[in-house]
Amino acid sequence: MKISKLILVLFLIFLSISVFGWSRHNLITRIILTEATWLEKYNEITVTPYTYTDTTINPEFKIYYELSEEMKKKFPDDGKFFDYYKEDGSYYGYIGKKVGEKTSAYEILCDYSDEPDWDMDKNMHHAFNQKFMGGPQGFRHMYYPFGSFKAANIIFAQGDTPNRVEFYFEKSREAFAKGDRYWGFRFLARCIHYLEDVSNPYHTKQTSSKFIHWNDPVASTTTVTANYHAVWEVYFANVLTYEYKGKTSNHPMIPFLRKGKIEKVKDPKSLTKQTARKSCALAKKCFKTSIEFFGKDYDVLVDRYINEDEFTELYYAKGEKEIQQKEIHDLCSEAYVIASGAVLSFLEYSAEEFKLR
Ligand SMILES: [Zn+2]
Repeated sequence: MKISKLILVLFLIFLSISVFGWSRHNLITRIILTEATWLEKYNEITVTPYTYTDTTINPEFKIYYELSEEMKKKFPDDGKFFDYYKEDGSYYGYIGKKVGEKTSAYEILCDYSDEPDWDMDKNMHHAFNQKFMGGPQGFRHMYYPFGSFKAANIIFAQGDTPNRVEFYFEKSREAFAKGDRYWGFRFLARCIHYLEDVSNPYHTKQTSSKFIHWNDPVASTTTVTANYHAVWEVYFANVLTYEYKGKTSNHPMIPFLRKGKIEKVKDPKSLTKQTARKSCALAKKCFKTSIEFFGKDYDVLVDRYINEDEFTELYYAKGEKEIQQKEIHDLCSEAYVIASGAVLSFLEYSAEEFKLR
């Protein structure tokens, strides 16, 4: 009965989810890539201007090189994404370098693994079913694999992420072929973004019947799913930020971003699909533990974001809350192992294809 109700509800709604994937891709990438020591070979790369054609993205999208005042405005310090700010209020994470300056492959990959979240995939129409994925950005940053139940494709795969990875992998090939290492690595950074996104269970399964209020199914599915999606991402972004700054909880997460195994890659598209299938298998448990750990506060019909006080209370959990914390950290650590395995395998494949070693 519940399933047929769920089908009805999902067809009535157009999910409008704010999709950042993982908040702070740059930090996730920074941690994962400490394992890719061969990148040290590329410590002297000159930043080159953008000379490529890409008609597939937001026509108003601008290429940013360094952190400008304009860029800072994209991440307002309104408490929703406080993880973008240092405690003293200054910005950290993405810094970038100007055209003509020197940078390294490592810095390019870290900084610009955030780039697809800078409105690149907004302001366009791709497909009818983008409406069920939070719009054009969601359509590209999420991928619901074959077999998982969803609107509008029922059991068929939905989302464009594998194609985006393939697209920027080929752009990278174009750049390396003409000796433009800066853009070669920057396009690879975009691929890394999408691979990390599909390692997040909230990006590989549409919703859960647990999020639905049957007396108001449309509003509840949209808002409640978005609330838990956001709190999961912002909570774990801040867990990483805290650990990176030396503060630790009972269940450290950073080690899991270094545990991914390098596996043989057939091609970037297949790797993306395979990564999504792995994280989708965690989704059901992930939704359940999100409700338990973050609590019913997010099960409301208004947008609800976590603030720093609420974060620290959860982070330094005690008693029964700490048992729930272990459960959700264990789950996210599985997603982190999936993410690091995918990114490292992808880089290994790229190094071979583009003869980077
Ligand atoms: Zn994303």
